[in-house]
Amino acid sequence: MATIFSHPAVALGLFPWFRDVRHHKKILLAGAALTIAPDLDVIGLYAGIPYDHMLGHRGLSHSLLFAAIVAALITSILARRIEISARAVWLYLFASMASHGALDALTNGGLGVAFFSPLSNERYFFPFRPIEVSTLNIRYFFESQGASVLANELVTVWPICLMGLLVGIFWHKARAAQPSKG
Ligand SMILES: [Zn+2]
Repeated sequence: MATIFSHPAVALGLFPWFRDVRHHKKILLAGAALTIAPDLDVIGLYAGIPYDHMLGHRGLSHSLLFAAIVAALITSILARRIEISARAVWLYLFASMASHGALDALTNGGLGVAFFSPLSNERYFFPFRPIEVSTLNIRYFFESQGASVLANELVTVWPICLMGLLVGIFWHKARAAQPSKG
């Protein structure tokens, strides 16, 4: 996995690009939470579920279908409270949650990601894997590995997410400043 500090950065980088949702901080918070939710599957490891099992780490919870279903459930709650296009909310939440598997597939360790679970439990990595994998052991992370993993994510994940955030904000501002035609 990438760390829980960096997965939410993707939700931040995507946020301004979704025109209908970008004024709603609750949706941003939901998107950020969904970027880290797939790693709740580590509970299964402690319960004895093998890593390579469909319900193991980077299995079903990291799949595109699971992201689509969870995004739909959260959308049904949020879109009712905030009067906004449900499709736009779903799309943002789906992209945020699905980004988790994409980041994991860019890491240099562990097993790949079961993007197509439950249809297939095959695990995938991208051919280019610049992100240093983070340990699942919290103690080892803070005592030993954490600094180098975070330093790696600062130069691999964060610049792209910050660029997404800033370019998205400026792009919308530039569009809003254009005189309307007609
Ligand atoms: Zn993960």
